[in-house]
Amino acid sequence: MQGVSGKVISLDSLPELVRILGKKTGNKLGELGLESVEDLLHHYPRRYVPRGELTPLHHGEEGEYLTYVARLKKKEQRRVKNNTLTLTALVFTDGQTDVTCAFFSKSPFTVNKVVRNLKVGDTAVVTGKVGVRWPRGRALGPQRELIHPDVTELEDPIDPAVDPEGARAQAEQPLVVYPTANKIRNNFIADAVKTVLGPMQPGDIPDPIPESVRERYGLLPLLDALRELHLPRSLESAELARETMRFHEAFVLQAALARRRLWADSFEAVPRAHVDGGLLDQLDASLPFKLTEGQQAVGAEIREDLASDRPMQRLLQGEVGSGKTVVALRAMLQVIDAGGQAALLAPTEVLAGQHARSIENLLGALAGKVRVTLLTGSLSAAQRRHAMLDAASGKAGIVVGTHALLNENVQFAELGLVVVDEQHRFGVEQRDVLRAKAEKAPHYLVMTATPIPRSVAMTVFGDVDTSTLRELPAGRADVQTFIVDERNTAWVERVWERVAEEVDKGGRAYIVCPRIGDDVDDAGEGVLLTDDDEEAGQEQRPLTSVTELAQKLAGLPALAGKGMRVMHGRLSPEEKDAAMADFAEGRAPILISTTVIEVGVDVPEAAVMVIMDGHMFGMSQLHQLRGRIGRGSREGICLVVTPSRSKTAVKRLTAFAATRDGFELAELDLSLRREGDVLGRAQSGTTSSLKFLRVISDAAVIEQAREAAWATLDEDPDLLENPALADAVARVADQEDYLDRA
Ligand code: ADP
Ligand code: MG
Repeated sequence: MQGVSGKVISLDSLPELVRILGKKTGNKLGELGLESVEDLLHHYPRRYVPRGELTPLHHGEEGEYLTYVARLKKKEQRRVKNNTLTLTALVFTDGQTDVTCAFFSKSPFTVNKVVRNLKVGDTAVVTGKVGVRWPRGRALGPQRELIHPDVTELEDPIDPAVDPEGARAQAEQPLVVYPTANKIRNNFIADAVKTVLGPMQPGDIPDPIPESVRERYGLLPLLDALRELHLPRSLESAELARETMRFHEAFVLQAALARRRLWADSFEAVPRAHVDGGLLDQLDASLPFKLTEGQQAVGAEIREDLASDRPMQRLLQGEVGSGKTVVALRAMLQVIDAGGQAALLAPTEVLAGQHARSIENLLGALAGKVRVTLLTGSLSAAQRRHAMLDAASGKAGIVVGTHALLNENVQFAELGLVVVDEQHRFGVEQRDVLRAKAEKAPHYLVMTATPIPRSVAMTVFGDVDTSTLRELPAGRADVQTFIVDERNTAWVERVWERVAEEVDKGGRAYIVCPRIGDDVDDAGEGVLLTDDDEEAGQEQRPLTSVTELAQKLAGLPALAGKGMRVMHGRLSPEEKDAAMADFAEGRAPILISTTVIEVGVDVPEAAVMVIMDGHMFGMSQLHQLRGRIGRGSREGICLVVTPSRSKTAVKRLTAFAATRDGFELAELDLSLRREGDVLGRAQSGTTSSLKFLRVISDAAVIEQAREAAWATLDEDPDLLENPALADAVARVADQEDYLDRA
């Protein structure tokens, strides 16, 4: 239709919910970011409350919009503001905690009808924004209150004498509580969902899960699942619906990963079969150590992968020091033996240089037979030209580099294998750039030192094969870990004595603090103790800082005469180098530092690691810090000093002290963490796509979904028979961030 202004007004341009539910309702839902029917149906209930039960009132942060089901305990009205307003205060309770709701009106009679009619003892659904008030004069602490919340009475119970069936059904139905904001009532959302869902037919909502899979795993059809989620007949049926949704999410994700794998497999690679008596065999004969069982097992997998005409897609995980480099080098030599070249990509120049050196070291006498070329951004123009020529002419067997390797001008004569160290910084896009540098697709090996629990690996790396090096090569020194309660001054004194003893024996000690100090900025950082501690009534004090601790330790008789240096991010590069050199060479055997020493520092004499305010560090940080000691033959001792008695902190630190297995710690950490953080940044782009699935606790579901997804794709690789799944997969694939893991 042509309007006066000349603009074409099309109904289609309006948000879908506005068209269906009308402008008023539709726009209001729009405030919650809900515009389409799909948005609304995927706005899932936050909670189900059985009828007759109350929601706990003790949770709710200031500013949060929450819905409570609570009982009215007290009702008061009084005149306030010089007698100009009536305050109606409703005190709701869950039996233990009270929350006050305040309503202001001109007269006692103009207050909202529901509020006026509500009687003490009635149960109501209350939705509002949590505010916090500090009552004057008393040490009561903050009181939570809701100002002008929405209050809805529960619907009248059906009289069993009139309708016994109806009464029973009603008693079974839980109350559904939605996430909300902007003064939008819970029932407003519930009503909108009801209106939309009511007339829907199965054909209206395409179900990506094929019927055979659904039957096999006892899942509900998608529409039924959505009905039971939003309008559950019982708590059990809501739970069954949630199970279906969990599977649904896992299945679509696994199907997307399987599609991606099929795509990668569709490329042809040059098979690089093992050559008897070649460089690889010569290396094996010359290594000064015996490969660990893990290295041998992974080596056999890689050997087979490389001999295939499909490109290898393998993730090798193993902690720092587990011996990944030699595994990678063996793969490279197999490829070189078969006439190819290998590229090794590192995230930083320093690491690239380190790799080139350790490869040369491992090659030993073989170094003359394989040219290892370093190609980084900081080379001079001439050096760079030289390195590029080595790669393009095929003279270089191994090219080690940073992002510079991805430059379009870098050519290879016969690129057969790409090894990537620390996958996090390289996405699928970069992989494609490298793929384009060879006529046929190169084989691909990614290495990571971050232990990834299996279910996370399946979710995030579901399209690659994974190999794990669990054990460290034998002959590593033992490291013992102890937790030291800071309030026990005798123990803390003992810590400094231990430091002195180790130093006297020729060892070095790291002392790590959570802050630098001497600075208004970070002194104010103030998360001193955890919430639990506050609840336990613990006093707060500033976190230990490098500068303050350095002063204190300098005055301790136990450490008198021992050389100390400080190390932190505010030092100049020269100061840092000097401090490190003094430490490494023993002029200053004590280094008081922030976590800057967490990675890459290798001082074999380091025997003691003292971690101050240990509760402030995450598990992987603690693990990395402890990894700094016990690197040579000297036994190590790790002392974690903490004042914290919070349950979570104690649990984490105790677990940390009990094992040095990074995989065990990673799993434990994930189980202690809030579920949303599990996939970290990898997941952040898709919080919308995983609402039910919990990567750690639902590992079994992920495994089943993976199997089902592969079975589906084996029969129907292009998903021609499963258009709804094809659609869902395409949408997941659109969320590039996620699958790129960048
Ligand atoms: P990462 O997995 O951190 O890359 P590296 O490959 O750098 O570990 O190996 C750490 C050290 O262990 C190196 O000095 C390496 O030569 C040595 N190493 C590797 N494999 C073995 C083994 N099987 N036995 C003894 N030492 C080994
Ligand atoms: Mg390494």
